[in-house]
Amino acid sequence: MKIAINGVGIAGPTLAYWLRKYGHEPVLFEKAPKLRTAGYIIDFWGSGYDIAEKMGLFPELLEDAYIMERIRTLTASGRTTSSLNVRNFQEMTNGRYMSIARSDLSKHLFRACGGVKTRFGTSVTGFEDQDGKVKVQLSDNSSEDFDLLIGADGLHSHVRELAFGAQETFEEHLGFYVTAFTLPGYQPRNKLTYLSHTVPGRQVSRISLRDDQTLFLFFFSKNFVNQQPENEAGEKALLREIFADMGWETAAILSRMDEVNNIYFDRVSQIKMPNWTKGRVALLGDAAACASLLSGEGTGLAMTEAYVLAGELKRANGNYEAAFSAYQNKLHGYLLQKQAMALKFAGFFAPKTWLGLFLRDAMTNFASVPVLGKLMLGGMFKDNLKLPSYEDEQKN
Ligand SMILES: Cc1cc2nc3c(=O)[nH]c(=O)nc-3n(C[C@H](O)[C@H](O)[C@H](O)COP(=O)(O)OP(=O)(O)OC[C@H]3O[C@@H](n4cnc5c(N)ncnc54)[C@H](O)[C@@H]3O)c2cc1C
Repeated sequence: MKIAINGVGIAGPTLAYWLRKYGHEPVLFEKAPKLRTAGYIIDFWGSGYDIAEKMGLFPELLEDAYIMERIRTLTASGRTTSSLNVRNFQEMTNGRYMSIARSDLSKHLFRACGGVKTRFGTSVTGFEDQDGKVKVQLSDNSSEDFDLLIGADGLHSHVRELAFGAQETFEEHLGFYVTAFTLPGYQPRNKLTYLSHTVPGRQVSRISLRDDQTLFLFFFSKNFVNQQPENEAGEKALLREIFADMGWETAAILSRMDEVNNIYFDRVSQIKMPNWTKGRVALLGDAAACASLLSGEGTGLAMTEAYVLAGELKRANGNYEAAFSAYQNKLHGYLLQKQAMALKFAGFFAPKTWLGLFLRDAMTNFASVPVLGKLMLGGMFKDNLKLPSYEDEQKN
């Protein structure tokens, strides 16, 4: 089948890889002019890690990864209030846990698709599902016929809007905003350590990266936002206003905001849909079931959805309706569980009260004791999804 995939992030290239492996003809469309490079660091483990292994991304993936050592929380004057040994996560996942720039993971996934037709700077603007095909309209005013159209275009998916309706219908805003950006040459640096300073409803964090870069993350309650800014200048102004009195290194970080030219600024939201497919259209990844950064697993989930959708298409041998239905049945409940689990971590990023903050730090210190850490966080790493081995199945 000839299959259009809108979005070359995480889900899109993973799907393209498996579809091509099973003899289909995927075509990737991406609105950005080239693979996105800016962004943030993600934690990567679980079924996504297993799929990356199946795709032969190791050991190259590890070369771009960070094996973090500590999470430290600090007061406004820089005194440490809690410290978590992240190496415990390695033990809880049998060494299958890493941190990596989202853009680097995307780069490796896309590289594995070498040769798949890809059109950067071109996106799906409309479609008609009729006469046994999908006629896809593109942003360059051309149109092309496909057997299926897949929306892998993230939280603000345009394919979702075209096929299912407005984002508001499916979006649950979790009450927070997040911003991420990098700066070169920032001092001080703390190798392999995630440092953060929190006051009720607000958190500033930094991670020292390779090549003298530092990643900064700002997480804050929607109570500080009257209206979501419409452009980067507005986003910077809002950050300066909200975080002006934060203490720690915040003033020094904000004083360099004018140097930032690729800021990530968005609502923290989940997407909940009763159905991920309609006719010849299906959604994947954040477009279908964003669990938000609070899950710490969105990339792995996006890859799992892509792997299962491609596998079910292989298994159904051309019967896309059967494949879509199996895809949804296998994963819908699982994603709802992951979304519910994610909500439990909101208190880690931005507790609402000083008491909540005190309790968070106390719990973080407890979790550093390996046995207690396993008891408190072990559940997060448990997965009750057994990945099918579609690649070993013979075609009917
Ligand atoms: C601050 C932050 C921290 C996070 N931390 C983690 C973490 O620790 N671990 C983890 O696993 N996940 C984490 N996540 C979540 C993770 O990044 C997402 O779940 C994951 O990237 C989803 O993959 P995706 O392919 O569905 O969407 P995306 O990665 O968003 O990719 C979508 C692609 O579609 C493109 N696109 C958008 N609109 C269009 C259009 N109209 N036409 C064509 N192309 C389009 C975009 O340019 C992009 O390339 C975090 C997210 C944030 C914001």
